[in-house]
Amino acid sequence: MNRKKYLEEVKKLLLKRKSELEDILTTLSKESVSDDQVKDLGDQAISSIMESIRGSYQNTEYEEYTRIITALKAVDEGTYGICIDCEQPISEKRLKFYPDACRCLACQEALEEFKQ
Ligand SMILES: [Zn+2]
Repeated sequence: MNRKKYLEEVKKLLLKRKSELEDILTTLSKESVSDDQVKDLGDQAISSIMESIRGSYQNTEYEEYTRIITALKAVDEGTYGICIDCEQPISEKRLKFYPDACRCLACQEALEEFKQ
């Protein structure tokens, strides 16, 4: 598969997951926003909901959502699959399991160690 085609596939996958997560996050956030805000969900309403989630939720869905946004941006900028820390290519195997990965395994492990 050539790179262009590969990136199209990745993008499709990421966009699908992004809309799933938007649904989950919208449901999760209904408790924290008023009915008026939820009534007609345009992009703007979603982004304001995301703002409110950022303040009140520390959930894995939101973290995944932000990783997907970052990955989609990287696809558009042509930097997808490059580790943001060491700038080395991320292994294909890792990207297959974690299409939203923005770090190689070594950098990810280093980061998690740092957090503990
Ligand atoms: Zn790295």
